[in-house]
Amino acid sequence: MNEVPQTTPADDALLAEARSAAAQAYAPYSQFHVGAALRTREGALFTGANVENASYPLGVCAERTVLARAASEGVRPGDVAAVAITASPCGGCRQWLLEFRVERVLFDHDGGVEIRSAQELLPHAFVLDE
Ligand SMILES: [Zn+2]
Repeated sequence: MNEVPQTTPADDALLAEARSAAAQAYAPYSQFHVGAALRTREGALFTGANVENASYPLGVCAERTVLARAASEGVRPGDVAAVAITASPCGGCRQWLLEFRVERVLFDHDGGVEIRSAQELLPHAFVLDE
């Protein structure tokens, strides 16, 4: 059996922020409310929720909302300590989490909490080689 990673008090606090953020979701079509919370290495906190649109593909997931909010305030790849999400991140969001090099991604899954790095969530990811 793989060892199940344990959440820290900081993880639990971030998960609680994500669960609170889910209440702000705009999800009139799916009714699927997702929240995300991001903590930077300096301790700044950002939250986000999914925002749907009548043109379905234009909807934005909670993870991308929170990463865009943080990036808009100057957060850059390597600045993010952890992101907590109330659902398993979709493939597109895994690419965003990887872009920001998030080392600790926590998400509700199967009645428990998964803790993974963005790299673990997206092996063999697309990256631009320079
Ligand atoms: Zn997503």
